[in-house]
Amino acid sequence: MKEILYKSTRNSKLRVKASEAILKGLSDDGGLFLPTEIPTLDVSFEELSKMNYREVAYEVMKLFLTDYTEEELKNCINNAYDDKFDTEDIVPLTFADGAYYVELFHGATIAFKDMALSILPHLMTTAAKKNNIDKEIVILTATSGDTGKAALAGFDSVPGTKIIVFYPKGGVSFIQEKQMVTQKGANTKVIGIKGNFDDAQTGVKKLFGDAKLRDDLSNKGFQFSSANSINIGRLVPQICYYVFSYAKLLSEGKIALGEKINIVVPTGNFGNILAAYIGSKMGLPVNKFICASNENKVLYDFFKTGTYDKNRDFALTNSPSMDILISSNLERLIYMLAGDDDEKNKEFMHELVTEGRYEITDSMKEGLKNFYGGFATQEETLEQIGKLYKDTGYVIDTHTAVASRVYDEYKKTTGDDTKTIIASTASPFKFVGNVMKAINPAGVSDDDFAMCDSLSKLANVDVPRAVEEIRDAAVLHSDVVEVDDMKAAVLAFLK
Ligand SMILES: *Cc1c(COP(=O)(O)O)cnc(C)c1O
Repeated sequence: MKEILYKSTRNSKLRVKASEAILKGLSDDGGLFLPTEIPTLDVSFEELSKMNYREVAYEVMKLFLTDYTEEELKNCINNAYDDKFDTEDIVPLTFADGAYYVELFHGATIAFKDMALSILPHLMTTAAKKNNIDKEIVILTATSGDTGKAALAGFDSVPGTKIIVFYPKGGVSFIQEKQMVTQKGANTKVIGIKGNFDDAQTGVKKLFGDAKLRDDLSNKGFQFSSANSINIGRLVPQICYYVFSYAKLLSEGKIALGEKINIVVPTGNFGNILAAYIGSKMGLPVNKFICASNENKVLYDFFKTGTYDKNRDFALTNSPSMDILISSNLERLIYMLAGDDDEKNKEFMHELVTEGRYEITDSMKEGLKNFYGGFATQEETLEQIGKLYKDTGYVIDTHTAVASRVYDEYKKTTGDDTKTIIASTASPFKFVGNVMKAINPAGVSDDDFAMCDSLSKLANVDVPRAVEEIRDAAVLHSDVVEVDDMKAAVLAFLK
């Protein structure tokens, strides 16, 4: 197999191994890691369509993580995609109202972040062994609500690691917050910040860039790493479910070999949809990538105009995991559109920091023609949940509803009837208050657990294990700090 190395979006000459890129998370120059070339699938979709999820995942991941042995990689995969998932298929497909919903929320914390974060700790501890790291790995993570719990669950009690999660106090759903603040495990720490997700993410990036802090902690035996979606160890596992879904549709006779599909993704940090895009470069037949935003519609505007402009008010919406104005993973697309030009990318990213905006060139805009951007307001989001439930009995969460709504509008305006999969990124139970508002307003109450019980009856779906686990769990984390005090909070936990 061809060896794949990783370069930085801000230094095309850099070369590190996959395991090193996973350990570091972010390149020292502030750039994101990308493979020097995107490998193509070396098994046919006919073969893939006979494989289970773990087997497909291996066929995809082996091409990117070439310094892992077959045994190492298969161990990581088997430890991740096991009975933590409540279905043998891992990512079941549900057909409703003209589209296939690929349900990415059957893992431990009932959001799609589990797809990558159930394997990342295994990839990382394997990487530490391979690279003879004797330091304790400290995972620093900012979350818009779902990454936090998924990372905590993944790293809970993993020897040789500690994990610190920052979340925007007041910016996440009740269930999301309860999931995080009840986290057990002596190596875990959850801290609310007085700010929004972008503040948390920027704060964490600052800590990563703090050379003095890095040295001080190194002397104390610690090394930072990131579980955020900028880590290549999250991006690669996310490609697998697009390949698996395509193979599944093929095996069920829903599509023909080679037939192109549309992929609709409710988007925040641009990680999930970027994984689909990289999948297409590997050989996945895709017609359009439909990028769905909520009222924080920076990406919609970007696809429309070629200008990325974060200078606008931040909206707290009913799809909080997409309340983001700085979509970090977009940097990877920008770099690729610029023809792997690190200098050009650096200029754009510099403008983003200094002006809060940048405009890509006309030739780069050409590269966006397979993307379609749309957005849904909070009202439209609730309407969509209600409509789908009324027409089909299927209940989706608020994030998935943003995608579903944008897809309906896409079909109406373009007439495109290409078969389509919609990434269903969270269980409706995780956002039960808003889901109830949409399907049965009379059932709205201030008791989220009671609403979960009634949602279970209305949707004819069991209350997920992840909800049962926190029903009576004690709150173990109650710190809330100012953004400026994030560093002090990290040092206090590591003292
Ligand atoms: C994180 C998240 C998203 C956004 O995914 P990105 O990879 O950040 O674009 C969408 N929906 C849910 C439920 C999420 O948790």
